[in-house]
Amino acid sequence: MLRYDSYDIVLQEIPNEISLCFTITGCQLACEGCHSEHLWDPEDGKELTFDFFERLITKYKRTITCVVFMGGEWNDSELLALISIAKKANLKVGLYTGLNEKQVKRKYPNLLTNLDYLKTGKWISDLGGLDSCKTNQVLKDLVTGKILNSYFYH
Ligand code: SF4
Repeated sequence: MLRYDSYDIVLQEIPNEISLCFTITGCQLACEGCHSEHLWDPEDGKELTFDFFERLITKYKRTITCVVFMGGEWNDSELLALISIAKKANLKVGLYTGLNEKQVKRKYPNLLTNLDYLKTGKWISDLGGLDSCKTNQVLKDLVTGKILNSYFYH
């Protein structure tokens, strides 16, 4: 069962979407300089049960337009089940992962075909995040193929 550290309704993660965003615990990537090492322990956080997830979707579906998972691709079958619940409520779904798109395509092809947004790229402090023009990270609208990084430049 996937576990989460926290959830919140956010505006900044996906441009033009109001997102219910879950931070999933158990990240296996161990990026050098990770700003969230507390997310590495798979036993940390609370269980993200289907029942709890469905109740949150029912509660917020008139407020939100999207659900974002920060991690969780390592349990793709469970993530796909959660994505399916969100899709039934006509919500878009995004995934933030430290993998690159090629790796996601190779390891979790079913995820790619069920997501609307994908943010890829491990954290490299010298290159910065989405607000840096030299970043290795990419936020992509998988429906249109458009790269959305420019929304984060100030
Ligand atoms: S993907 Fe994110 S949470 Fe995971 S190790 Fe890298 S920076 Fe940390």
